[in-house]
Amino acid sequence: MRMVHQRRRGTVKIPKITRRKFVQLAGASAAAVAASSLLATPARAADSLTGSPKRMGVLTDITRCIGCRSCEVACNKANELPPPQTPFSDTGVFDEERRTTVGAHTVVNRYQSSNGSGPVYRKAQCMHCNEPACVSACPVAAMVKTPEGPTIWDERLCMGCRYCMIACPFSIPTYEYESALSPRVLKCTMCYERVFKKGGSPACVEACPQGALLFGEREDLLWEGQSRIINNPETYVRHIYGEHEAGGTSWLYLSSDPFEDVGLPSLEETGYGQLTWDFLTAGTVATVLVPLALMGVYRFGMRRQRIAEEEALEALEALKEEALRTENEGGDGH
Ligand code: SF4
Ligand code: SF4
Ligand code: SF4
Repeated sequence: MRMVHQRRRGTVKIPKITRRKFVQLAGASAAAVAASSLLATPARAADSLTGSPKRMGVLTDITRCIGCRSCEVACNKANELPPPQTPFSDTGVFDEERRTTVGAHTVVNRYQSSNGSGPVYRKAQCMHCNEPACVSACPVAAMVKTPEGPTIWDERLCMGCRYCMIACPFSIPTYEYESALSPRVLKCTMCYERVFKKGGSPACVEACPQGALLFGEREDLLWEGQSRIINNPETYVRHIYGEHEAGGTSWLYLSSDPFEDVGLPSLEETGYGQLTWDFLTAGTVATVLVPLALMGVYRFGMRRQRIAEEEALEALEALKEEALRTENEGGDGH
């Protein structure tokens, strides 16, 4: 198994889950056991994950982005999301790296260029992986990889287990914790309903005043990216992020800075689908930790539930990293 880069990871902190909390959580996890039993007969939508060779995607040229956040505004409007707590015009949001949320399916973050040319900005959203780990992990096929390219989600099927959140190597899916009745998993859909049924381009692409976002067939985007790199070798890192990472993604990036310096993880070329599935269905993880993380906390109030879930999800993330590291070391040894 070949690595694109070494997987970037700071100190992996395994959060403390006290014995008392563990017992409390596990004791409340009857529903979780029922959910985990679904793993034995998964309705996986992972059989044709790579979709059509004509699948669509978006090429983000980070060198053209000025951090205006017009894409965020357009996404907010297209998805009929509530206005953000901090106005779109407030550049204070760049002080901390942000993740996508229930109220923001895309976020633009600011990074310092390592070549001293000042700040650079990168728009983050679902990468619409060729072999999505979220799809592979979903026990009821609520996450679907469409032949056109986007990875979408069917709320009629979703049982709220949040396996997709654990599985995603880009930490993209978010969950409506505040919705007591029918919480949803939310993320960028590449504007699937509008674009792939009515035509046009994703709202963020149409809104970008810099032409930093280009929508088209993934193969054409790769050609365009290679062309820009060849014609401007002094401008770009000689790699298109997403061409191979995690088995390839429909959302691609060009950059003048190393990709890990603009918040993109160094990932294997292998798709994460099977790897994630193997991990999630492995012994202790499937029978104890996943149920604990996902459903075994309903006894608590919403806020405490969220905190407990986040701690358990962090623990799972650390275990996943450990499993990946072990597999990599095993692969390197052959
Ligand atoms: S980035 Fe995450 S949520 Fe999006 S398709 Fe890939 S695995 Fe799924
Ligand atoms: S493709 Fe659509 S849903 Fe995704 S970030 Fe752009 S506007 Fe938002
Ligand atoms: S609209 Fe374009 S230039 Fe503005 S922040 Fe988004 S990607 Fe960057």
